[in-house]
Amino acid sequence: MNIYADNAATTKMSDRAIQVMTDCMRNYYGNPSSLYRIGQRAKEKLEEARLEIAKLINAEPREIIFTSGGSESDNQALLSAAAAGKRKGKTHIISTAFEHHAILHTLKKLEQNGYEITLLPVHENGIVRTDELEAAIRDDTCLVTVMTANNEIGTIQPIKEIGGLCRQRGVTFHTDAVQAVGHLHIDVKEQNIDMLSASAHKFHGPKGTGFLYCRRGVALSNLIEGGAQERGKRAGTENLAGILAMTAALKDSVAEMDMHNEHKRAIRDRLIKGLSEIPHSALNGDAEKRLSGNVNFCFEGIEGESLLILLDRKGISASSGSACTSGSLDPSHVLLAIGRVHDVAHGSLRLSIGEDITGDEADHIIKSVKEVVEYLRGFSPVWRDLMTGKREFIL
Ligand SMILES: *Cc1c(COP(=O)(O)O)cnc(C)c1O
Repeated sequence: MNIYADNAATTKMSDRAIQVMTDCMRNYYGNPSSLYRIGQRAKEKLEEARLEIAKLINAEPREIIFTSGGSESDNQALLSAAAAGKRKGKTHIISTAFEHHAILHTLKKLEQNGYEITLLPVHENGIVRTDELEAAIRDDTCLVTVMTANNEIGTIQPIKEIGGLCRQRGVTFHTDAVQAVGHLHIDVKEQNIDMLSASAHKFHGPKGTGFLYCRRGVALSNLIEGGAQERGKRAGTENLAGILAMTAALKDSVAEMDMHNEHKRAIRDRLIKGLSEIPHSALNGDAEKRLSGNVNFCFEGIEGESLLILLDRKGISASSGSACTSGSLDPSHVLLAIGRVHDVAHGSLRLSIGEDITGDEADHIIKSVKEVVEYLRGFSPVWRDLMTGKREFIL
């Protein structure tokens, strides 16, 4: 049995996206900037895709910039909003402690360049409080960036309310919606979003393709210098095959979203119920306000890495912390942000399920995790100390 339960890291491309991609590579190889028909046909396809993507999030085509993915979109949005702020003498930025590193590392860089950064807490449930956000907004705040859904614990943030507060105070609001686009309903107008980042490979599209939504009237500067593609906001010959495949993948994801969410939610809750039976374990993040595909647990007395290796032997691909931090000894900044202590945060497991998962597969996961946790605790010195009372249980 092979169960892929790491869809938050990346998803498998859909057959249709692969079909569209190869078809484009064969038939629309022209450069969209060229004047002859082969180039212009590619340009038409590009603009059709832009229109389609815009419709899917209730934006206008000119508000969509194609990029190489979530990280690039995040970098461009933040650096751009920060530069626009500075022009008005505003250099304060608000974000949260559990953003993706594409946000946190960009904020670090801005901080080194004289910006002041406020990182809001996300509390035990992994959700930002709007009253705390409101209190943090100052006259010199130029940007608020809060992710729509967290990539590790799946918690969903009150984006519409945050956007509303920002709108009232004249502050630009960006959201890293990489985990949400294709999985949750997004309506940039209704949700008061000024800038939004998305990535194709998180919704069955290809890697290395994404987009940035930037509301008309919100200043956008380019990250990559060069040609005049994307209205001068993102130089470089367009990755048309990737863009068309992303568009097909997003169209399908949005069309099937409700059905998939209902199925995944049922399986998610079955996994949560089953894994909660493991003694000294705890679910990370709010049980309800979370992505339908996300299950994240801490198990006391074990190492997440060992758990993953043994689960892989049982045919289960899962994750512990984020892919970027695994391999390092630092525990996940997300789990620390929700108040898990280092030792407990080390024993974490993230299962991010796809819509094709079956009930039998969920039962296999539960059985395997139970076996592996018990096995690892069997020779864990930490567990022995906990059992003999030398150390106190936290969970
Ligand atoms: C995956 C991810 C990113 C990075 O997207 P890439 O397309 O891989 O660069 C950014 N933010 C979040 C929340 C993600 O899950």
